[in-house]
Amino acid sequence: MCGIVGIVDAGGVSFSLYYALFALQHRGQESAGISTYDGSRFYKYKGQGLVAEVFDEDILEFLDGNVGVGHVRYPTTGGNLPENVQPFNFRFKNHFFAIAHNGNLINARALREEFERKGEIFSTTTDTELIASAIVDEFRRSENIIDAIVHCMRILRGSYSVVLMLDGTLYAFRDPVGIKPLCIGKTVSGYIVASESVAIDALSGELIRDVRPGELIQIDESGMNSIQLAISAHMAHCIFEFIYFARADSVIEGKLVYDVRRRIGEHLHDEAPVKGDMVSPVPDSGTSIAIGYAHYSRIPYLEGLMKNRYMGRTFIKSSQQERENAVKIKLNPIKEHIKDKSVVLVDDSIVRGTTSGHIVELMKEAGAAEVHVRIGSPQIIAPCYLGVDMPTREELIASSRPVEEVRQRIAATSLHHISLPALIESIGLDMKDLCVGCLTGMYPVQIEGEVCSPRIVDIAGGTYQTELESFERSHGSKNK
Ligand code: AMP
Repeated sequence: MCGIVGIVDAGGVSFSLYYALFALQHRGQESAGISTYDGSRFYKYKGQGLVAEVFDEDILEFLDGNVGVGHVRYPTTGGNLPENVQPFNFRFKNHFFAIAHNGNLINARALREEFERKGEIFSTTTDTELIASAIVDEFRRSENIIDAIVHCMRILRGSYSVVLMLDGTLYAFRDPVGIKPLCIGKTVSGYIVASESVAIDALSGELIRDVRPGELIQIDESGMNSIQLAISAHMAHCIFEFIYFARADSVIEGKLVYDVRRRIGEHLHDEAPVKGDMVSPVPDSGTSIAIGYAHYSRIPYLEGLMKNRYMGRTFIKSSQQERENAVKIKLNPIKEHIKDKSVVLVDDSIVRGTTSGHIVELMKEAGAAEVHVRIGSPQIIAPCYLGVDMPTREELIASSRPVEEVRQRIAATSLHHISLPALIESIGLDMKDLCVGCLTGMYPVQIEGEVCSPRIVDIAGGTYQTELESFERSHGSKNK
């Protein structure tokens, strides 16, 4: 989780980066940062908080230049420390270098140990700094940034979508199996690369396409170039982006997320119809799924819960009573809609089960006669090691419990999760092109103690399987 953006624009980039980050705010609310370059000087500003809290007009005026990168952070590897706020900025051999990353490296600890053995020092606890190190290490030797990114792809394991600014040029690349999203757009006087297409929309740009897994995009004021550095027969796009994480108005791999979620709702009704009086979403994550369910079932769509939009920074005391009140501050049941009704309550996922339990209780307190819970993901049974904030197996309510036991725990009248085949059909991609680790416990890359469904990757003339630790050079020259 995290949002990244890189922009090249003849008319200056700081305000555009700000608007793009604003559109990506849902991907991380902990901190935000922007780095720009004006042809001779490097400018940077970053801080903890929401995009609108970190930046103001004066700061954006100060961030001069026609190329820049930005980041919104949701802390995964590295924790919530001020020094971990991205982009990271470096200066060496008269070069300026800024990097922002979305993803999670699974060999971060081994890489850090190896780099530290070689005498490198780090100023943060993030895996992003390791990516920077891997690139700079090779760049120092070859003075060739493409060689350096190839080297980096060979030694990194895990998920990474990266934007990188080297002097006046923007580079963007995705890991060889494309776990995290990244797309390219054209604006009136430049280009944008961003985690989601909503950032392109925010600049009134045109989505060109997704960055391909293993592809390196290079953009400067003369235009855009693409080099396919790594090739894999199948990608492994995070399925959770479609279910929950991405904004519904984003287009990922050619699919409008909103429509994917509506289809999920249709399949949910096919698989588990109910004679309900109303279909209500859990706002906002269940909304488009509930719309699909209601439309297909012809049961009226009627909101049974209202979400307070200003929850972001609410101070919540830590006693149990206070936490319970917090749910009510966040979600208020509309008693007049719910009373004596059989409610079909639709949400995207159950993780720990606490939210669903509280919401079912709220609905019943407000007078609902029945609460039929319909969930737009199969049971989440395994953790995510690749960048989505998911708890351990012990904390995942479904990891060791059948659906009926979960139903009893959350006190729902009935409970149904969409099946994996129906979910895949709703998305419209081949299951082999999706990472379904959290739903099946089978991951597209090797993770210690877990089962791997490997992808074979070819990086600039050498092949490796994602379940193997080492990269074996098999043939060909270094750069294609
Ligand atoms: P719970 O079952 O109480 O852990 O929470 C499930 C709710 O959290 C669902 O309504 C989801 O919309 C939301 N959710 C799912 N995954 C995540 C995540 N990785 N981070 C934050 N919220 C999430």
